[in-house]
Amino acid sequence: MPDALTRGHSFARRLWLPRAVGLLLSLSCIVSVQITQPVSVGLWILLLANALLWSPLAYLRAVRARDPYRAELSNLLLDCGSAGFWVASMGFNLLPSVTLLAMTSLNMLGAGGLVFWRRGLLAQLAGILIGLVVLRHPVAIQTSTAQIYACLPMIVAYPWALGLVSFRLAQQLSRRKQELELISKQDGMTGLHNRTHWDQLLQREFARCKRSGAEASLLMIDLDNFKLVNDRFGHQAGDEMLRQFSGLLARTIRASDLAGRFGGDEFGILLPDTSPERALDLIRRLQQRLHEMQAGGPGDRQNVRVGLSCGIAGFDRTYDDVAHWLQAADFALYRAKAQGRGRAEVADPQGVLA
Ligand code: GH3
Ligand code: MG
Repeated sequence: MPDALTRGHSFARRLWLPRAVGLLLSLSCIVSVQITQPVSVGLWILLLANALLWSPLAYLRAVRARDPYRAELSNLLLDCGSAGFWVASMGFNLLPSVTLLAMTSLNMLGAGGLVFWRRGLLAQLAGILIGLVVLRHPVAIQTSTAQIYACLPMIVAYPWALGLVSFRLAQQLSRRKQELELISKQDGMTGLHNRTHWDQLLQREFARCKRSGAEASLLMIDLDNFKLVNDRFGHQAGDEMLRQFSGLLARTIRASDLAGRFGGDEFGILLPDTSPERALDLIRRLQQRLHEMQAGGPGDRQNVRVGLSCGIAGFDRTYDDVAHWLQAADFALYRAKAQGRGRAEVADPQGVLA
């Protein structure tokens, strides 16, 4: 429910300024007609109250409502109804009437598409009927030159303001979309690519290598004795270690390399156009920096050092699919662990397929 409340409030906030501007501009259209016919004091008061007080009242009504979205929707319908009422009060004077009906329809369309627009039409019709019955003003559709001028500010400025609001909304939505896209591709804790996205990137690189015969190396990294950090210093310290290592990883690879978190203390790196021998250099640099990162820290003092083991698999044309390539790197990692940790092993593609 809080989500619906926030959405309703932002809907009301978005509409209050266009409503205030629209009501002031519509005053010029309506007054230009009312001054040409006998109008009761009550109607003048109603017209001024509608133009000056309705937009703050409508806003307050919406934000104080239990369901602000529904309240704002009924405000919009009231806008349409009152436009219909003023149309009847002007005896259907053509240009001011069309202007009011068109602008309130535009509002409804912008707020809720064709469904709202249809409801708005019904509300306008209801307003017209009430106006006809209550006021009984004679029909006079002729628009004078002065009345045309009086309608121009609304015809020009209101769509301009609505267009600006729509554009800002579209910008906001596009920013949100980008943020969401980023979140859906990132590992929440480390900011590296998450497993799903990394798999997609790997798939793409595999297809590229198959097509062009380009070199690439796939690295599977698993931290050594990482559980000890959790056990000695707590889970939060473990999380911090993972974040620091990921930062180190991101700073050590090239911009074209792709690092992802597989989960736990396991990471995958894809190095396009890189041989396994060059990948070994990267691992040595990474091991050195990981060692320096911990030097003098609490883990170092208590002899809880985290190292890393790595399995490297260069792309090989004999791999049928990505799973084979991954399996090769995984086997190599297993060997690195089995042979004492803190080392990197390079896969033999023939060995994997055998
Ligand atoms: P090995 O040298 O064989 O790799 O042993 P290890 O101690 O590093 O343990 P292993 O790789 O088998 O398991 C990783 C451990 O990391 C298991 C789990 O307790 C811990 N872990 C997994 N995910 C997280 C996490 O998000 N945060 C923290 N703090 N710990 C995690
Ligand atoms: Mg580990």
